[in-house]
Amino acid sequence: MRTKITLACTECKQRNYNTTKDKKTHPDRMEIKKYCRFCKTHTLHKETK
Ligand SMILES: [Zn+2]
Repeated sequence: MRTKITLACTECKQRNYNTTKDKKTHPDRMEIKKYCRFCKTHTLHKETK
């Protein structure tokens, strides 16, 4: 079962990505390096609710 999550940039707090994850493989909050168009660089994005 996949759950919808939102990924927010940890630098500017913008919510840049919507995605889904498998709670079995990622029971905790995910942290992914992704491109932030507000920071114009790759930043760490964290899962938010
Ligand atoms: Zn950013």
